Amino acid sequence: MSNVLVTENIQGASMNDLMKDLDVEFDAYLWQNVNLLKQKLADAQALIVRNQTKVNQELIDAAPNLKIIARAGAGLDNVDTAYAKEKGIVVSYTPDANSLSVAELTLGLMLALLRKIPEARQDTLTGGWNRIKFTGTELNGKTLGLIGMGRIGTLTATRARAFGMNIIAADPYLAADAPHLKELNGKLVSLDDLLAQADVITCHSPLTPDTRGMLTYQHFSKMKPTACFINTSRGEVVDERGLTQALLEHKLAGAALDVREVEPPHQSALNQLENVILTPHIAAFTLEAQERVVDAVCEDVRLVLSG
Ligand code: NAD
Repeated sequence: MSNVLVTENIQGASMNDLMKDLDVEFDAYLWQNVNLLKQKLADAQALIVRNQTKVNQELIDAAPNLKIIARAGAGLDNVDTAYAKEKGIVVSYTPDANSLSVAELTLGLMLALLRKIPEARQDTLTGGWNRIKFTGTELNGKTLGLIGMGRIGTLTATRARAFGMNIIAADPYLAADAPHLKELNGKLVSLDDLLAQADVITCHSPLTPDTRGMLTYQHFSKMKPTACFINTSRGEVVDERGLTQALLEHKLAGAALDVREVEPPHQSALNQLENVILTPHIAAFTLEAQERVVDAVCEDVRLVLSG
């Protein structure tokens, strides 16, 4: 039985080194087989996961020797941290390692939506050469509304400023005079004001009991009909049915979702909408971010197992 169990696809030079030094069992699909995972956890001292392994009470109870749950990535919504603490298990994660990549994808989706890049590509591939049809809008002078102004929200806003955007943010835990908001000439507003004023809305809040299903049809209906919505945080923050209905009724102009209510998602009406960009939760998947993430989890495991 292994000391260290890796249940998702978490690879890199540091993982190779860890495998040389410790007894590591690596199975990228183990998260899908809870019974087998529970068996393997009987002797595990360290568990390394991304976000697909649901580390709940049942799993933790199956792991009497566990010393650390190391989450490769940001957001601890798939780990029962309170129960792990009760059992004396360290929970680590890598909140900083992939923030920049998420912010860059957010900017990429913003440009792709406003310049209709995916639709223009599709049209061109099928023989079209429609320049007027793909007239877009500039980011310069537009208002970016950030729901959640933590690490990723701030990195996104900083990059948006370079494009000449104005910044407003809704965040219940942020002070109106927060230095990072001031530096960006940003303004703290209510969620309702943000929905009414922003030309592009990006969501960067964590998934918590308060934020689950936070953005509904009523919210999307308050947006400008020319505005776009982008979610690179957690899919469950958005009521997808509500978003779909609002898009079908042209309450907003478009949306881009890197994260979904269910992953991988079921067939959805969103797939049929031209003004929607869907990506498979890739915001953190850059070579640089993955190297940082794997370095950090391997280091955490080494530290805890070496006492
Ligand atoms: P962070 O903790 O630095 O910032 C989150 C911000 O959201 C905080 O400022 C917090 O006050 C705010 N917030 C909390 N509740 C809110 C609410 N109800 N409304 C508005 N704001 C609220 O986190 P971060 O590093 O910026 O990451 C944000 C989220 O992005 C993570 O929790 C994670 O779920 C997600 N994420 C996604 C990917 C991806 O691959 N798509 C990768 C990394 C992180």
